[in-house]
Amino acid sequence: MLKDKNTEKTDLEKLGEFGLIDHLTKNFTITQKSTVKGIGDDAAVLDHNNSKTVVTTDLLIEGVHFDLSYMPLKHLGYKAVMVNLSDVYAMNAMATQLTFSIAVSNRFPLEALEELYAGVQLACKTYGVDLIGGDTTSSKTGMLLSVTAMGQAKEDELTYRSGAKPNDLLVVSGDLGGAYTGLQVLEREKEVFKVNPNSQPDLEPYSYIVERQLKPEARKDIPELLKKLEVKPTAMIDISDGLSSEILHLCKSSNVGCNLFEDKIPLDPTVISSCEEFKIDSTLVALSGGEDYELLFTIDQNDFEKIKGNPNLTVIGHMTDASSGAHMIARGGAQIPLTAQGWNSFSEGN
Ligand code: ADP
Ligand code: MG
Repeated sequence: MLKDKNTEKTDLEKLGEFGLIDHLTKNFTITQKSTVKGIGDDAAVLDHNNSKTVVTTDLLIEGVHFDLSYMPLKHLGYKAVMVNLSDVYAMNAMATQLTFSIAVSNRFPLEALEELYAGVQLACKTYGVDLIGGDTTSSKTGMLLSVTAMGQAKEDELTYRSGAKPNDLLVVSGDLGGAYTGLQVLEREKEVFKVNPNSQPDLEPYSYIVERQLKPEARKDIPELLKKLEVKPTAMIDISDGLSSEILHLCKSSNVGCNLFEDKIPLDPTVISSCEEFKIDSTLVALSGGEDYELLFTIDQNDFEKIKGNPNLTVIGHMTDASSGAHMIARGGAQIPLTAQGWNSFSEGN
């Protein structure tokens, strides 16, 4: 390979754009029936037959959406795919294809992009998604990633944000607040490292939450589980910003209100203990933390028996008439209006 003798890093200029694209994409395989043509022509060709196609896209910018000082590039590639797949699963659809576009400055050698694409490849393999294209260009500073995911579902399976009805149960997968508390741990270690570059952080006690931040998993299993249980959610959204703001999206799109019960919010013990350590309120973290990539959905009350006791799912509230508004019922019984930032700390009873 064209390696720089001193640093063992390969300058991107030595490969040229086409050499680089070939190099990064040569080990990806096509597995989806719906991929007629993947990488290598002017456009990819897809045939989703008689099912509906869903499309979602995200733009990720260094310094805004990710910090390479504690985010390994392989994890970044993986997470960039997860963020998009999560949106596909939130439509109750299965993800099938992906495009991955990059803009990089000359600060990044080939080896850095190999790491990034190793994460993309692991994500594609694990989730059964084909990489079918992308674009490669240079940037003046830093790294930009643009990812588009496609998926498919039968028309009657698709779940929008708008289908929730009063009295529907509000359900969430997994647990919340891990990604945010994991970020707090990583930020703290970064500050310690600045002062003492020889310090070796012991992240072991925080491994669950650090992993939630660095290597989130999209909940492909939830649409599959719901199908098996014969439950069609009435509305669904993925939790990228925080429980509170996602509940408000469901309420607004469906024209309903909501009662969320604080004592039902699922929290991992590591989230609770690190919130105590950082002196932050664990409920606030779950409501406003974001990046958990769990699925939040509503179901008809008649479907409760089918999901009852499932360890992946927690009923955290119910929908109401729009006129009642969206509230959290706090542990002490106070009704606190939900806001996009979490809750309104100036309202009565808080
Ligand atoms: P065009 O000039 O038509 O934009 P490119 O030379 O950029 O074509 O791309 C050639 C092929 O490689 C296309 O199939 C494109 O989708 C794919 N491709 C380009 N960049 C990437 C990338 N970063 N990751 C994956 N596929 C890519
Ligand atoms: Mg191009």
